Amino acid sequence: MEDAFRFSDAWGPSRIIHIHRPSLGLRAILVVDNTACGPAIGGVRMAPDVSTEECFRLARAMTWKNAAAGLPYGGGKAVIFADPRMPTEQKEAIIRAFAGAIRDIADYVAGPDMGTDEVCMAWIKDETGRAVGLPSAIGGIPLDEIGATGFGLAASIDVARQFIGLELKGARVAVQGFGAVGKHAARFLAEKGAILVASSDTSGTVADPDGLDVDALIALKAAGKSLRQHPKGQKLDIDAILDIPCDIWIPAARPDVVRADNVARLRTRLMPQGANIPCTAEAEEALHARGILVVPDFIANAGGVICASIEYRGGTQHAAFDYINERIRSNTRLVLEQARKTKRPPRAAARELAEQRVKAAMLTRRWR
Ligand code: NAD
Repeated sequence: MEDAFRFSDAWGPSRIIHIHRPSLGLRAILVVDNTACGPAIGGVRMAPDVSTEECFRLARAMTWKNAAAGLPYGGGKAVIFADPRMPTEQKEAIIRAFAGAIRDIADYVAGPDMGTDEVCMAWIKDETGRAVGLPSAIGGIPLDEIGATGFGLAASIDVARQFIGLELKGARVAVQGFGAVGKHAARFLAEKGAILVASSDTSGTVADPDGLDVDALIALKAAGKSLRQHPKGQKLDIDAILDIPCDIWIPAARPDVVRADNVARLRTRLMPQGANIPCTAEAEEALHARGILVVPDFIANAGGVICASIEYRGGTQHAAFDYINERIRSNTRLVLEQARKTKRPPRAAARELAEQRVKAAMLTRRWR
């Protein structure tokens, strides 16, 4: 097989496009993976250290996520090789040049991801006529501000906890990463009586077995401060979050944070995955063997993309929350019931669910 086809399998990708505009300093890759369910929706990631492989893995994850969520969209992803903290004028020029290069790729709809935001999406929409995750001034639903993914995560947890006989009232929660996903998940869970016993950000971990004040932590972050600057609670190092005894441990930061070398440190009963691919395959198997229930990322964290797809179809914030609640609850139940019945890890059951939906869609298409 030629090297150019090294990622190819029965699902895709249908296209990998390398974009190179030396005069503008633009280097980017677009992967349109499987579009049987509809045009591919997926984020644009801007970082200096991205790669074609990362872009492909993320695009494939979007294929499963969108299919599992029952959305009429396929999976795709784009990466731009650049430092997102560059001056705004330069960033706008690069994003607009990128948008120009993908203008005719009609089966890809861009969304925000690491290093890009709603303003970047507005530039792409301006150039191409399509993008999701837009500013509210042009019809967007501010998904990170309203906590669409954290809301879905909390809904997923409310279903999963029934599989291990856990009450949310009084449940001890630890959250790794107190950003758009983590802080809103903590807030929605606290509203249901759960207790945040620890959280971490890049500055370290703050912990209190009697419970941290979620609103105070959110206000602290909004003021541009770090969790270590919270006046209460014990201050620990960044990895100490792994050792916190809790009932629910939520990864909401980076990929591959739980690995074979540190998985034994976790002392929890449930791991709903807010971050994408937070565990290596080995670590996830170890969790399963220890009886720690995992709700896989593309089932538990689909709130954001559901919200984006509702926005794309002109829907309201209210409609987005209803859809997220209904779909994430039913998918979590379906996956965990199937995993229990077949005695397999939830990821295997989740993958089967997504594959069935993509396969059924592929059968309706002439070019598959
Ligand atoms: P964010 O940038 O808003 O927040 C990330 C948080 O993680 C920050 O508080 C940061 O300080 C912290 N962090 C980074 N590295 C850390 C580390 N090693 N240990 C502890 N904390 C660390 O990002 P986000 O939008 O909340 O996304 C978090 C994760 O969830 C990412 O993996 C993202 O791909 C995934 N995700 C996000 C959405 C969404 O709607 N935003 C949807 C699905 C998946």
